[in-house]
Amino acid sequence: MKVVIIGGGIIGAALAHRLIRDGADVTVLDAGLGATAASFGWINASFFLDDDHFRLRAEGIAAWRRLGVEIAWSGCLCWEESGDAFDAQAAALRALGYPVKEVDADWIRRAEPHLRAPDRALRFAQEGVAAPSAVACDMLCGAKVVRGLAVTHITETSGRITGVATRAGHIAADRVIVAAGTASTGLLAPLGVHLPMLERPGAMMRTRALPSMLAHVMAAPGQELRQDAQGHVWAPMAAQHQGDARTSIDTPPDVLAQETLARLRALLPGAALEWEEVLFAHRPVPQDGRPVIGPCGPSGLFAAVMHSGVTLAAITAETLVPQVMNGALSNTQAALVAPYGADRFQSG
Ligand SMILES: Cc1cc2nc3c(=O)[nH]c(=O)nc-3n(C[C@H](O)[C@H](O)[C@H](O)COP(=O)(O)OP(=O)(O)OC[C@H]3O[C@@H](n4cnc5c(N)ncnc54)[C@H](O)[C@@H]3O)c2cc1C
Repeated sequence: MKVVIIGGGIIGAALAHRLIRDGADVTVLDAGLGATAASFGWINASFFLDDDHFRLRAEGIAAWRRLGVEIAWSGCLCWEESGDAFDAQAAALRALGYPVKEVDADWIRRAEPHLRAPDRALRFAQEGVAAPSAVACDMLCGAKVVRGLAVTHITETSGRITGVATRAGHIAADRVIVAAGTASTGLLAPLGVHLPMLERPGAMMRTRALPSMLAHVMAAPGQELRQDAQGHVWAPMAAQHQGDARTSIDTPPDVLAQETLARLRALLPGAALEWEEVLFAHRPVPQDGRPVIGPCGPSGLFAAVMHSGVTLAAITAETLVPQVMNGALSNTQAALVAPYGADRFQSG
């Protein structure tokens, strides 16, 4: 079966990886940079919108472990909330069966000696971090990858997908998957598929490399941070990254960087922090905040578009590829993705 995937970010790459394993002939077209390059890369289920979304994210972690690609399973230390809200967060996650351990300042000082330790934190041992661009690149191994060439539109005849059109000509396919992040809306619209999205720009800062000093991903009040294997500290440039609802970023990158560095210096008092790279991107957030995973429009067309795509890439591939390849989902898989159909915005 010949499959074209539009988009070579973390979602397109995970789909390609699984499709190749299942015997498909896969071509990935990628026009340029997307959200993946600017991602924090945190794989977690401690942030969620509702019980279904929690289950999908928890399965997202399990699916990465099944996939066996290179992920740093560092665990997360979280003290974003304080007082009653801290206890409520722990109770809500425990009620859902999520492994949560409360750790005190002594424990934190021993585990993270460079950090200005809070009085207490929640430790989510099963969470981890992907280096998103590198992991995507690895997962594209075995696919035919075309970079720098945009799909102008998807072609169909008599209600069946026939391929994609580009400036360089037509590429025939039996199946087309739209994994084009924020550009997905415009690709799907001519085929009668309505996918409204929120405007959610984000920015990420990477510091110069430092000696290894952080073990965990950290969610502190007003700042998330992690250190990669090369020593760079990564930090979202919004004080409240998970709830960042800005529709534009009007602050110059160097000012944003200084603000972010000030928050980091308060957390890591002895570290010689200087910024090296700032990455801007638009988060692909469907209008209701939830993922889009499934068939849509003409026969042979599929969409996979979501925020938290690093957390959800492996489970997206596990649940979408059987549908692309004419296979069946287990009842558990079908229930997991039932809320996230790609046709759900049609009446809106
Ligand atoms: C600042 C920030 C921090 C984040 N932190 C996290 C996090 O910690 N954990 C997490 O799980 N998620 C996080 N996210 C979200 C996550 O990064 C995204 O959900 C994920 O990267 C989306 O991947 P994608 O492959 O769907 O889209 P993208 O990475 O956007 O890839 C889509 C690709 O499609 C290509 N494309 C578009 N149009 C066309 C066309 N017409 N033809 C050919 N190619 C085309 C684009 O060039 C792009 O490369 C973060 C996002 C941002 C911006």
